Amino acid sequence: MGETSALVLFSGGQDSTTCLAWALDRFDRVETVGFDYRQRNRVELDARPRVRAALAAAFPRWAGKLGDDHVLDLAALAAVSESAMTRDVAIAARADGLPNTFVPGRNLLFLIFAAALAYRRGIARLATGVCETDFSGYPDCRDDAIKALQVALNLGMATRLVIETPLMWIDKAATWRLARDLGGEKLVDLIREETHTCYEGDRAHRHDWGYGCGHCPACALRAAGYGAFRAAG
Ligand code: ZN
Repeated sequence: MGETSALVLFSGGQDSTTCLAWALDRFDRVETVGFDYRQRNRVELDARPRVRAALAAAFPRWAGKLGDDHVLDLAALAAVSESAMTRDVAIAARADGLPNTFVPGRNLLFLIFAAALAYRRGIARLATGVCETDFSGYPDCRDDAIKALQVALNLGMATRLVIETPLMWIDKAATWRLARDLGGEKLVDLIREETHTCYEGDRAHRHDWGYGCGHCPACALRAAGYGAFRAAG
């Protein structure tokens, strides 16, 4: 087995873009997959081809490794869930403490579809930017959930699929630092300029950490992480 390959779950946000750069740095061939689950804001989906093109243009050593992009339609997820990500309601904490941006089963479903796609593409490695450290309250981003799913997928598909989670144990400041380690200030700038994280889909307000409303939980996390990253030097 000479060539190594990976399929990256790529949303167009900061974490999945850093995860994509991490995979491009390590593997010979890297494909990407995104999901259209009728998210309220299409901004992230729009960011995906832009980020891929910017990565290929800015990093010739990665351009040749960047393979096909796939977008899978998961409209059924919006049909079964009541979430601020798919419905036009204000972002708030729910009675059980989870944010109402939580779409139950979302990451699990993404990984199952990604695994089925990887199976067809002959890829034995998935990479996802989920993180338990700064975690936004999403239980399906936790290490135990991912590990359990990896076992279930391999039992159910008779494979030896590995789910790579390079961001699992690092906080948002360290995620910016990882981007700088992988691609220098050029990659940090690309992530600030091209990726999208804001829950409100705001591309009108530019901050030193990128575009966003500046108030939603995703903006707050991204801004605090960037501040800590720059403060540490
Ligand atoms: Zn925001």
